Amino acid sequence: MSKVGEITLEKVTRRYGAVTAVNAVDQVIEGGSYCCMIGPSGCGKSTLLRMIAGHETLSSGRILIGGKDVTHVRTGERGTALMFQNYALFPHLSLTDNVAFPLKIHGVGAERRDRAREMLDRVQLGHMADRMPSQLSGGQQQRVALARALITNPQVLLLDEPLSALDEFLRLRMRVELKRLQNDLGITFIHVTHTQPEAIALADKVIVMDHGIIEQAGPPRDIYDHPHSPYVARFMGGQNVVCAKVLVASDQIEAESATGGRFAFAPRAAVRAGQDIRFAVRRDKIRLEPGQAMASNAMPGKVVNVEYQGTFVKVELATAQADEFVAYLPEADFFAKPLKFGDEVVARWLPQDVCMLVGSNNSSGDALAH
Ligand code: ADP
Repeated sequence: MSKVGEITLEKVTRRYGAVTAVNAVDQVIEGGSYCCMIGPSGCGKSTLLRMIAGHETLSSGRILIGGKDVTHVRTGERGTALMFQNYALFPHLSLTDNVAFPLKIHGVGAERRDRAREMLDRVQLGHMADRMPSQLSGGQQQRVALARALITNPQVLLLDEPLSALDEFLRLRMRVELKRLQNDLGITFIHVTHTQPEAIALADKVIVMDHGIIEQAGPPRDIYDHPHSPYVARFMGGQNVVCAKVLVASDQIEAESATGGRFAFAPRAAVRAGQDIRFAVRRDKIRLEPGQAMASNAMPGKVVNVEYQGTFVKVELATAQADEFVAYLPEADFFAKPLKFGDEVVARWLPQDVCMLVGSNNSSGDALAH
């Protein structure tokens, strides 16, 4: 396998005084893949990105790019390019000269302007090559920043919250554009975001961070469908987290909750009778039925909110659990038997839709204390 653009993080650590922003992170990011790093504000995403770019030194650990140790290699010489959140375009230079600027720094002669125009064509701005940045919309400015980052032919493009300054409409359009560019260029993209739909829509690999560590990393479907811990289940969204006590532990776990629920499902790790566990069930796997009759994989609740969402209806239940409990019901099912505030219902699901949470991280993802 080619190592071009592969990034290896070995015990990468960055401390700022008493704060450990990134704590002994180990990870391999495959060359030519689209990787999204996600986590709440303050979890260490930007610090890790800046260390890969060479804009930040490591307190300890090593970073390899394409198999070569770049821990102490200068920013411009490690085959990376970083696109800043605020684009940082030069207001007094035309688009061509903005994009050609990194080549000028590298001592490239007159041909740099031709290469800049080619790169502007790639981001569909070739026809505006002589304009000034102030004559562009936010989305167009971002394309120029992208072209400027790509002009040096990096092995790795690093993007720090690249879509956060755009409105919803442009954000969705640029998302498609980023994916297309990454596909065309075949280089590694590492994209920092705090928006879950963005990460799962774009990434080959999602890295979920919390308090300076990687809590889970893998393909988006694994992360969304099989969260490791309560933290990941809540942070990625779309899941209900349920607490229960194990009654019987064998090939099949039997458990009950203080909220009157009874559950039976296959274990994902060894458990013993009496143990407190948590599991996740996707909101779209829940069915709601009237009454209070109990069976396995069911929990009683009272409807406290109903929101029509177009293709589905979001129904929130009060269940005596600390966590909120939500069902996404297909539109037709809901309107066949509508529910209203105060209705007593039973939430049911299938045993195969239970994902036992093996990790213990129950954090809320709040920023690190100083
Ligand atoms: P994120 O990108 O996930 O929002 P950051 O990497 O920016 O998080 O920050 C991680 C932690 O490190 C935070 O607690 C932040 O306050 C701290 N931090 C980041 N940069 C510095 C710095 N230059 N000096 C001191 N603390 C910093």
